[in-house]
Amino acid sequence: ATWTPEAGWHDAGLRPYAPLSLDPATATLHYAQAIFEGLKAYRHDDGSIWAFRPEANGARFARSAARMALPELPVESFVESLDLLVRTDAEWVPSGSEASLYLRPFMFASEVFLGVRPAKHVTYAVIASPAGAYFASGVKPVSIWLTSEYTRAAPGGTGAAKCAGNYAASLIAQQEALENGCDQVCFLDALEGTWVEELGGMNLYFVRSDGSVTTPELTGTILEGITRDSILTLAADLGHKVEERPVSIDEWRDGVASGEITEVFACGTAAAITPLGRLAWDGGELSMGERPGPVTQALREALLDVQYGRAPDRHGWMHRIA
Ligand code: PMP
Repeated sequence: ATWTPEAGWHDAGLRPYAPLSLDPATATLHYAQAIFEGLKAYRHDDGSIWAFRPEANGARFARSAARMALPELPVESFVESLDLLVRTDAEWVPSGSEASLYLRPFMFASEVFLGVRPAKHVTYAVIASPAGAYFASGVKPVSIWLTSEYTRAAPGGTGAAKCAGNYAASLIAQQEALENGCDQVCFLDALEGTWVEELGGMNLYFVRSDGSVTTPELTGTILEGITRDSILTLAADLGHKVEERPVSIDEWRDGVASGEITEVFACGTAAAITPLGRLAWDGGELSMGERPGPVTQALREALLDVQYGRAPDRHGWMHRIA
């Protein structure tokens, strides 16, 4: 669909997948006025197809749009666009445990001009791609590089928006992680370098020896993960004390060393829940266990059971598409 100030959203419809032809002066190529979302459609055993909390992704998309001076797309239109695409291409939703159709809605400044101001021609589209299980051979803890050189987001910045530039800026830190033999990067806050924020594409959780479950609180610099939010509820359902509060890097390191923190995991749409096995930084490292811990595993099962229709949808999270 296309947006202009005069006509609002118009020209919505299905098009065959094809390359976009862009003028070299298309605003998004220069100023990155672009946002996106990521969510999945799941096929249940009876063949029906469901999305997990698409309204929450639509609401986050609207917040991202507002932050990036892009036009608002109503949440109903966002969900409708997913319904339309997935119903048309339903045969692309795979069956099987942990397989899904990954959905990628995105919006970008498609006006042709040079100059720094919000674009007056904007494009919204959704593409999709079948995704297999994130862990092809069983859930394995991943290793995390704690970057001290780079930050992801500063107060007043775009950290809470799912905008293209955030990812562009984090690539070098992700590269640093790989060069140091780690799978993913972890960012600390930009002001003090003390507070644990998130990974490049996942939020973080800490499990304590008393069974409580803690995630860094949302400060405006962390992406408000839909999985993070869902786990707050699922963990409480499973009887855990749940808290959102600042977690310092010292608390993480000391907590694991002393046994006060028994499990650390990351969460996001792609992998659902991923145990963390090792934290490394310039000058040291810490092992957090070679196997997924019991709370991590139980939460992972609980989340996937809802998404794949194996457990009752107590919170009204599942949206039937077909
Ligand atoms: N943080 C960042 C930076 C991300 O890109 C993602 C993935 N969207 C997440 C956290 C997890 O969010 P969600 O649970 O909505 O996938």
